[in-house]
This record gives sequence, structure tokens and C-alpha cells, in this order.
Amino acid sequence: MKKIAFFSIPAHGHTNPMLPVAAELVKRGNTVRFYSFDEFGDRIKKTGAEFISCTPYLPEVNEEQMARLMSVSQTEMTIQDIRTTLNMNDFFEAEFKTFQPDVVYTDAVCFWGKLNAWKHHVPMVCSTSTFAFNQLSSKYMKQSRAEIKDMLLGLPKISRELKTLRPYGYEVKSALALVQNDNQTDTNVYTSRRFQPYAESFTSHYNFVGPSVFSELLPQKEKQRPLIYISLGTVINDRPDFYQKCIAALKDMDADVIISRGQYMDEKKLGVLPDNIKTYVRVDQLEVLSRADVFITHCGMNSVSESLYMATPMALYPQTAEQFAVARRAEEIGAGVMLADDSAEGIKRTVEQLLHDRQYAHAAGECSDDFRSCSGAKGAADFIENAPHTCDDVDPIAEMNKVNKLWRIVFPIIATGTGVLLGTQISWPLGITVGIALGVLSYPLNTCVQKLRYNAVIKKLKKKQ
Ligand code: UDP
Repeated sequence: MKKIAFFSIPAHGHTNPMLPVAAELVKRGNTVRFYSFDEFGDRIKKTGAEFISCTPYLPEVNEEQMARLMSVSQTEMTIQDIRTTLNMNDFFEAEFKTFQPDVVYTDAVCFWGKLNAWKHHVPMVCSTSTFAFNQLSSKYMKQSRAEIKDMLLGLPKISRELKTLRPYGYEVKSALALVQNDNQTDTNVYTSRRFQPYAESFTSHYNFVGPSVFSELLPQKEKQRPLIYISLGTVINDRPDFYQKCIAALKDMDADVIISRGQYMDEKKLGVLPDNIKTYVRVDQLEVLSRADVFITHCGMNSVSESLYMATPMALYPQTAEQFAVARRAEEIGAGVMLADDSAEGIKRTVEQLLHDRQYAHAAGECSDDFRSCSGAKGAADFIENAPHTCDDVDPIAEMNKVNKLWRIVFPIIATGTGVLLGTQISWPLGITVGIALGVLSYPLNTCVQKLRYNAVIKKLKKKQ
């Protein structure tokens, strides 16, 4: 039997998938100490784990900082996470000495969990509630201009803040090294291998356990007329403008419509509702999805997983880079359509497309079968109990990067050599132009060479299997 320390951040989407895993480990006789926050205390205690509150260590935030956190500013979140880690330093020094965990199970973006596991040399397993993101799968994310600006302007601030960790024995090179897992870190991922983008680029240190949707419900789509469900999740959902467009689009359709409008918005802002449309602060989303024929979603990982679990095709309306990655993958497997045009007319067209073309429901149904066949909380618990894992898999990312390093040396030599050769043999203006053109082309050519190398490595790996 093991002593296992769980760490999560104060967010439902990150904490929820860890709860059934904690319950499973406790059921098997392990001791689980779960470091989390007061709002999750009761649910954690129900798993049989010991709940330890970290709420007193959350830094005070002013109005400006809170506004940035609410708009999901990566810079602000990183800064606050670093400060939280520092506030907790003495507390965790004492906890690691007294509890002496055999394994740390930490959310992949929980800085204090990862940093303390490294600092105290305890085997660590990460919990990833989104896709696993590496150099390749992170290309699925499409940052908005605001997100790119926030990241670029935030880099010096983050770097300054990271330096404050070092005197306390926390070794960390960059914020990216903290949040992006490598192919050597044991990681439970709450999705299936089939749904994960670039799944073959991850070694067997990654354990794809399927989405943490625990419901006995099966899809029940038989009814008199279609049901359309709309939700923008629990964070950025104060969007009366969008709900109004949905209402205009669907009011005359022979369909029932349910809108989960969230806790921030007053229903009065939507005016008088037509008979076929109802709005709620919150609904039992899994139950609604089991009956729904189309889901208009912001593409949070949980919402999309739940939709696929219930075989419901989606109109994909991502708002952040991570949601864009989830949306892109859902579209790729054929279970959804991007809501590129979010006017009332565009919404109506997309919903009709999803209702009438059965291939979308079929693809969602296939995904539902795949999700239901995954190992779930039991598989995640096995993986934690048996950590640390060894694996002698070839690391496709490392193989790909080897070419990258070589390319960075060879290509400038080729570009300069070609320029000089043309300059001396034909004319200098031509030599300089070709040299510059090759310099500009180096990035797309590099991407192309990397891709070829990656495909060759994967082909070789598949042949071996
Ligand atoms: N949810 C719910 N009822 C609602 C709206 C949302 O139960 O009316 C749940 C939903 O089932 C999902 C979670 O809230 O598990 C939303 O998580 P997601 O990752 O999709 O989005 P986020 O809220 O984190 O942006």
C-alpha cells in the first residue's frame, strides 16, 4: 500500500477528473492526502481521501489582477501560480517531512505539485485534463492576437518571477518547461489515444485513460423533434449577444432549445423567449447531452468529451487557444463543424447541416464507443500505483529534433554558400537576393524537413510493432 499526495489547482475542470482516481486508490487500501481548496473539500472527503486545505496560501489579488485572471491571461495565471508556490513553501516542507509520500499525483499545470515533487525527489505522475501538449500537438492551438500579446509582453515579468523560486530550492528553467510535459514524465491523460492529436508522438510514459465521464446514461435520441443544447461553459459565459443570435437563429425551427446561460447573466437581458427555447443558470449537462441532437459549445475539453460520450455532434465555437485545439480535433474526426460565421444566419445553417447530414452523428457515435472502452479511473490508479515507469520506446520528438539541430547548422552554410557562389559567378544583387530568400524560406523548409523525419520515425516504429 502506498502513500500518495494529490495536488490540484482551484479549477473544477482540473479537479473533477482526479476525484474518481482518488476514490479508486483509497478503495484499494492506499492512503491519499489531497491538497486542494475549500470549495472542493466536501467532494474530496467523499472519495475517502484526506482533504488538506491550501486556501489560506492563495495570494491576495486586486481588481486589475482578478480581471486578467477572469479573461484567462496566461501571464497573470503563471505569476499567481508562482506566488502561490512561494506562499506554500514552509507548509510543504513540513508536509513532505511528516507524510513522506511514495508518489505525487499532480495536475500537469499545478506548479506547487510539480515543483515540490522535483524538490523532494518523489516519483511524480501528472494528471492532464486537456490533451497532452508537446511540440507537435500544441500546433493545434491557435492563439488569438490578445493571447499572443499577453504572452510576449508577459515573458520578462514571468522570467523575473521565476527567479524568486530558485533560493527556495525550486529548479526551473522556464515557464514552458513547467507546463509542457516531456516524453519522460509519467502522465495520465483523460482522453483516448484515438482522440489525442499526434498520439503516436507520445511514448508509453503517457497513459490515455479516456475522458473522466462517469455516467451510466446511454445516448437516448428517440423523440418527436430535435433538441439543441447551447453552453459556453462555466468561465467566459456572460455572452448575451451570442445567446440572442442563437435565439434569433432557432426560434422558428421545429426543435427544442436549451441554453445553459451561466451564473453571471440575468435572463432578462435575452428579452421575451419563444416557446421552444428555455434558459437555465446550470443544467445537468450529461443528461441533456444524452438526449441532444446538436450541441453548440465553446469547446472546453470536458464539454466536448461529454458530447462525444453521448454521441452528440457539435457546432464548434472555441474562444481560447486550448479550446481551439479541442475544436480542431473534433472537426478532424468528423463529429463537428466550426461555427465560422456566428451570425444568426450562420448559426442556423450550421445547426441544419449537423441535423441533416447523419455522418456527424455517426462519427460522434464511433467516438462514444471508443471512449466507453477506455480504462478510466481504474487504469489511472494502476498507473499511479506502479510509478515510476520505465520505457525504452524511441522518443519520436527527440528523433525529430535531432534533424532540427543539424538543419540549423547546415542550412545557413548552404544559404550563404549559394549566395556567394551566385554573387561571384553571376552578379552580387542576385546572390544577395537568393541568400535573403533562402533565409526567409528557412522556417517553412525546416517545418517540412521535421515533418518528413517525424513521418519516417513513426513509420519505422509502426513496422517494429
Ligand atoms: N456544466 C454543467 N452544467 C452546465 C454547464 C456546464 O454541468 O450547465 C459542466 C459540464 O458538464 C462540464 C463543465 O461544466 O463538465 C465545463 O467544463 P469545460 O471544460 O467544458 O469548460 P470550462 O467551464 O472549464 O470552460
